[in-house]
Amino acid sequence: MQMIPASFNRVTVDLEAIKHNYRLLKKAAGNAAFLAMVKADGYGHGMIECSRALQEEGCRQFGVAELREAILLRHAGIQSTIYVMVGIDPMDAEYICEYNLTPVVYDMVTLEALSQAAQKHNRILPVHLKVDCGMSRLGIQEDQIEAFLQKIESLSGIQLAGIASHFPSADDVASESTANSYRRFQGYLSKAGKKTSIIRHIANSGATLYFPETHSDMVRCGISLYGCYPDGEKKRADDGLQPVMSFTTRVVQVKDIPEGTGVSYGSTYVTTRPTRLAVLPIGYEDGFSRQLSNCGEVLIRGRRAPVRGRVCMNLTMVDVTDIEGVTSGDEVVILGEQGTERITADEIAAKIGTISYEVLCMIGNNNERIIR
Ligand SMILES: *Cc1c(COP(=O)(O)O)cnc(C)c1O
Repeated sequence: MQMIPASFNRVTVDLEAIKHNYRLLKKAAGNAAFLAMVKADGYGHGMIECSRALQEEGCRQFGVAELREAILLRHAGIQSTIYVMVGIDPMDAEYICEYNLTPVVYDMVTLEALSQAAQKHNRILPVHLKVDCGMSRLGIQEDQIEAFLQKIESLSGIQLAGIASHFPSADDVASESTANSYRRFQGYLSKAGKKTSIIRHIANSGATLYFPETHSDMVRCGISLYGCYPDGEKKRADDGLQPVMSFTTRVVQVKDIPEGTGVSYGSTYVTTRPTRLAVLPIGYEDGFSRQLSNCGEVLIRGRRAPVRGRVCMNLTMVDVTDIEGVTSGDEVVILGEQGTERITADEIAAKIGTISYEVLCMIGNNNERIIR
């Protein structure tokens, strides 16, 4: 087969950084078991490669959103426990047996389907019950717990292996929400009785880092593994989490235009002086959001260059008038380090009114990834 040339744009994923973050978070988790969330193709970093690296490092629990991701992980040779966090279509219950997966459940129909599949495969399936502690997302309500416990007890082939919930505001150190949710979690657990075999888990990255009293039996970390603090940069320290993803492109054209010239669609930027622009082959198609029009920055020759005019689908112009010697072919950093400067996912997120999670997914899942 003929080789297809590489894109100008490339995402680089540093597996050593993810391993570093894993070791740091594992320490923070103390005695609690550690589950690595690798949904959304590992938050844009490559689910399979990240899972392999983490498994090598000793991680034995992985979490994905949907069944199909779990099956892809099995096909890639991940033998650790895989939690299917969003639950399954009851029609797909047999896959849980076939691939030895751990479903998170919150409805009776799925429990029945899992029970039937388990009996057919002559197995006892562990299930984790999802309870709602104030997120109002997935999970049963407090007045339903008895009925669910009875149902699980009464069905052959399945066994309650865990109770799980999720915090809505664990990224906010000052909020009382986490304490309140955790209290509600305790309420569910006391109704479930003292089965020591049950794994209790509720802590995400925020709770793992900022609310150690909520670690319970297992923590589930996502964003922190990928090097971002859940509350942005506030907690950043040199010996802390390391960013895993970087994103680079290169200059494809340099041009000088006079004062008073419009730049890009709609001429939303008009030059106020004779200006040197670098044209970059990135756009919103590559996860460089159109909301970065006239406000984004990139790094060229170790300096910050501001975006001028609208970000197009595949092209963006930046102002390099004040940067000496820029030529086509120069490396451009969109996310990551160059010289002494760094652009973080949190910086980009703040500019476009979102969170690092979305920036990483947008960039990581829309570009060729080099994983090393
Ligand atoms: C995504 C997710 C996590 C991880 O959250 P982070 O804030 O990325 O650490 C944990 N639990 C559930 C149920 C999730 O969906």
